[in-house]
Amino acid sequence: MSFRIGKLRSAVAIAASAGLVLTGSATAAATTTTQDELLGDSIERSQLQRHLIAMQRIADAHGGNRVSGSLGHETSAEYVAQRLEAEGFEITRQEFPFDYNETLAEELSVGGQDVPITAMSFTKSTEEGGLTAPLAVVESSDAPGCDVSDYGDVTGQVALVERGECDFAQKQAAAADAGAVAALIYNNEPGPLNGTLGDADAARIPTAGVAQEDAQQLIDADGQDVTVDVRQLIEERNTYNLIAETTTGRDDNVVVAGAHIDSVADGPGINDNATGSVGLLETALQLGGSPDINNKVRFAWWGAEEFGLIGSTHYVNSLSADEQLDIAMYLNFDMIGSPNAGYFTYDGTYPDSGLPYGTQAITDTFTEAMDGRGIELETEPVSGRSDYAEFAAYGIPIGGVYTGADGVKTEEQAEKWGGEAGVTFDPCYHTPCDNLGNVDYDAFTVNGQGMADVIADYAMSTEDVNGIAPQEAKDRAAVAEQRSAQQTTLAAAGAHENTR
Ligand SMILES: [Zn+2]
Repeated sequence: MSFRIGKLRSAVAIAASAGLVLTGSATAAATTTTQDELLGDSIERSQLQRHLIAMQRIADAHGGNRVSGSLGHETSAEYVAQRLEAEGFEITRQEFPFDYNETLAEELSVGGQDVPITAMSFTKSTEEGGLTAPLAVVESSDAPGCDVSDYGDVTGQVALVERGECDFAQKQAAAADAGAVAALIYNNEPGPLNGTLGDADAARIPTAGVAQEDAQQLIDADGQDVTVDVRQLIEERNTYNLIAETTTGRDDNVVVAGAHIDSVADGPGINDNATGSVGLLETALQLGGSPDINNKVRFAWWGAEEFGLIGSTHYVNSLSADEQLDIAMYLNFDMIGSPNAGYFTYDGTYPDSGLPYGTQAITDTFTEAMDGRGIELETEPVSGRSDYAEFAAYGIPIGGVYTGADGVKTEEQAEKWGGEAGVTFDPCYHTPCDNLGNVDYDAFTVNGQGMADVIADYAMSTEDVNGIAPQEAKDRAAVAEQRSAQQTTLAAAGAHENTR
């Protein structure tokens, strides 16, 4: 496979001026040539850095974040829009409402000692200053605290229960039914517990997660008074997806490439996901709004990813069935400059990965493209934790590259890629230190180049993915056949979406 696009204009121009008669259906198709430079070669580190500095400054000017539903997000998206408009892209802003939530307090004290807790998303709030009540430790079992009978009478008490078997929402509801005034759920594996109740309607009592490391201290305090202060701001807000597409290329075989541009409320979101957003921006700017391509390219900067993939999910569901079939593939870019970078693409093995038909070809294309830039990618099973999830659920082939979040780099990976073994790929993931200093600029640049190579390649032909050659009439029924061949087994889950 070739990744070349640089001289497309001249290739087509030469064919036309020489009066060459091309045969068959390829007559009007732009064709790739072999001596050209790659689109990724035009992606410059200094340009990426410039955009990234802009994103940091936007966060600095808006309370330290770029969260959806805030001016920080809007300013970020409009920074992108302005530059694309100047290049002649067709821009749309797709608005949608979502349940905004932001933690205002998450504090627990036992016998005068503070124990760290993490408020569950969509939890009920305590009064300001919290509530004080005796701690009731619920005995662990196969299904700890999933049923009201597990609690006994905990009227007016704070229930402490182990994670496992059923949703957090179910545990706090059972605790509430047993009379508890708050629920603490401790992790059943090492690390803090950052969970969600799914939605505000499920919330009954103030609920927070506790790290496994801190659980014993609480178990030992059974019966003692504890003070829990858990408060969240929850309200409906509006936000939008920014969508920009080329004016050229066929619109029944569209290559969609997306990145979420919103950050969490807790930080500026520079690696997550200003990196993917500005990599995509620079790719679009270098491609141009009306390049000589066969397939239209539609770039998307999603909103509200951090609230559970809301923007991308809204987008896919806003399309008609035919419009969904007109999307050849979805390419996702979420975190491409992690400070302790790994180099990953999705494992698209068909059918074992549970991902749509055609995904394996995209995996191969990214692997080859990054190999061409001196990077050996690893494939990983998808987690459902980013914006490809809803596309895959409709059978649309997916792909992308990413550099890792809260996973830990192995010895073997450190040997291959550099960086530190035994440390997470992004130690500042979803925290205030995800700032300009939290980026490996080599990783960022090479991933930006690789994504440009692949997007440009698919703008020319998606034949390896869906069998559709440039200018060949599209048989929607055949594509529908491909997409219904197997049920995607991917379970969608947002970045914060630990529900159990
Ligand atoms: Zn992200």
